[in-house]
Amino acid sequence: MKAAFFSKYGGPEVMEYGDWPEPELKPGEVLVQIKAAALNRVDRWVRDGWPGLKLALPHILGSDGAGVVIEAASGAVGFQPGDRVVINTNLGCGVCEFCVAGQDNLCRDWHLIGETIDGTNAELFAAPARQLVRLPADFSFENAAAAALVFQTAWHSLVTRGQIRVGETVLIIGAGGGVNTAAVQIAKLAGCTVYVVGSDEKKLALAQALGADVLIDRSKEDWGKKVYQLTNKRGVDVVVDNVGAATMLTSLRCARKGGRLLTVGNTSGPKFELDNRYLFGKHLSLIGSTMSTRAEFAAVMGLVFAGKLRPVVDSTFPLSDIRAAHEKLERSEVMGKIVLSL
Ligand SMILES: [Zn+2]
Repeated sequence: MKAAFFSKYGGPEVMEYGDWPEPELKPGEVLVQIKAAALNRVDRWVRDGWPGLKLALPHILGSDGAGVVIEAASGAVGFQPGDRVVINTNLGCGVCEFCVAGQDNLCRDWHLIGETIDGTNAELFAAPARQLVRLPADFSFENAAAAALVFQTAWHSLVTRGQIRVGETVLIIGAGGGVNTAAVQIAKLAGCTVYVVGSDEKKLALAQALGADVLIDRSKEDWGKKVYQLTNKRGVDVVVDNVGAATMLTSLRCARKGGRLLTVGNTSGPKFELDNRYLFGKHLSLIGSTMSTRAEFAAVMGLVFAGKLRPVVDSTFPLSDIRAAHEKLERSEVMGKIVLSL
């Protein structure tokens, strides 16, 4: 089969497109002919060489994928050749105490497809049947792949961990990324008033189109001060900060007393200094999470299929143009997801 992979760590130039052995099915697995995959920031970090991540190279990236089932091994219950499916990248072992409790994103032997194991940027991918959700007949592979990782991530963070409620104010730091475009829509669907801090007018226009109520352009104004003014010095109930080092302290200042700060990542760098007086003095909750459970994945994809949440696709590349797709991923003007079609 053909696949996109890298044999040494580095920039977009290390990405290759070529032949790869076909995966062998294990009991309980389904072989999916991939029709669309999507890029994520994790691809970049893995390709650059994530400290502590030891991979056998070459490695196939790709956490998102959708396609058609072409074979089901024994024990792969519920799927048959011809089924159109989307893959849940959050891979639990299925048997540890957390998986048994339905908390498979806390799995003791947790993997993210495409990160610690080979991913979906290939013509064929073998996945345990429990990782698949069936697509409605009229729902595109591209939109399914674009939605899978970012919507489950935002859903678990805002709804399950953050417990957002009708009438709350939610401040989202960043407007263009896949997770933030999902978070804006989920907060809106939950009945919250959504504030978005964006780096330019174009990204803020996208946030507005997705339902954001209050737009703050950080290229033009001090966003921390602006939130303080707009909330009558109260602060917001919930801050969603997946930027990290560059914004975290201002984010903590923007939260009201007793507020929650949610984070699923750190696009500006992993480390920040925390003045503990903010945390205890303001009764703040700092809430981290990653990915979601299988039940949440099915729930949020159901809302995507129903049109209540919509993935934002920036651009689509054929898998053979993987290098160009990665070059685009490096640029800050990307709005939403970069999709690979096969
Ligand atoms: Zn487990």
